[in-house]
Amino acid sequence: MSIKQRILVVDDERFNLTVLAELLKADYTVILAKSGEQALERAAKQTPDLILLDIMMPEMDGYQVLKALKMNPATREVPVIFITALRGEEDEEKGLLLGAVDYIAKPFHPAIVLARVKIHLKIMRQRRLLESIALLDGLTEIPNHRSFDERFTLEWQRAMRNKEPLSLGILDVDYFKQYNDTYGHGKGDKTLKAVAKTITRRLKRPADFTARYGGEEFVILMPRTDAEGARRVAETICKAIEDEQIDHCNSSVSQWLTVSIGGATVVPSQNESKRLLFDTADTMLYTAKENGRRQALWHDEIR
Ligand SMILES: [Mg+2]
Repeated sequence: MSIKQRILVVDDERFNLTVLAELLKADYTVILAKSGEQALERAAKQTPDLILLDIMMPEMDGYQVLKALKMNPATREVPVIFITALRGEEDEEKGLLLGAVDYIAKPFHPAIVLARVKIHLKIMRQRRLLESIALLDGLTEIPNHRSFDERFTLEWQRAMRNKEPLSLGILDVDYFKQYNDTYGHGKGDKTLKAVAKTITRRLKRPADFTARYGGEEFVILMPRTDAEGARRVAETICKAIEDEQIDHCNSSVSQWLTVSIGGATVVPSQNESKRLLFDTADTMLYTAKENGRRQALWHDEIR
């Protein structure tokens, strides 16, 4: 028996709720909300697989609801389709830039609503499946967190056997929350892809490895690289990302999007742990942020 997927329908007009519920209830479990606040509460509690969201609502409109959904880690991945009587191209663009996956105009055609709902649920399922089997991050298409964990263990053991240095960097996009608030989550996603691409391009040797660690955080693993060499690579990456000249008018450190990197190097032995290397790199990242961001800080080799 398969469990029905859950769809949250948000609309301030009872009539629309009834029509959409009737349309969807044969194939899906339908959750209803008649205001933005109710929608946020139900989305967080019941984690739907998809949300159909009205834009024009009193108090909190659909755009605000979408922004709030994207802020909450529990709901940020849930695909949102706008269903609205606003028919302007700017309205549609605004919705898509904020991170909606689709836009359906009212009065809607029931068959089209059903078809689009089905497509987006399928895309979401496939994306989750891909992430779980391919070890790739669905957004940036570089390795994901789990992939990094495996590689880190492997390289650690190899470096210990060969008594070679292993360098680890953690990169964080500066003022990324402000970036999303300013430009929308759709643009934010595009920018994360660009950052991933720039990092990958700057890592020249086949053993170098980067992964999206989560959110706007990336990790960089450089085997057989001492602290001096790794620091240079990290600085190159910082500069390359700023040189992309991605506008960030709400950053306090540059007119462009910038990143901070913290890193550390160790020749692994029985006495050191992977944890220590990671935590040291993380502390350096924290210090880089404290020191004004837009920089790479590398710890001397841990001894
Ligand atoms: Mg309405």
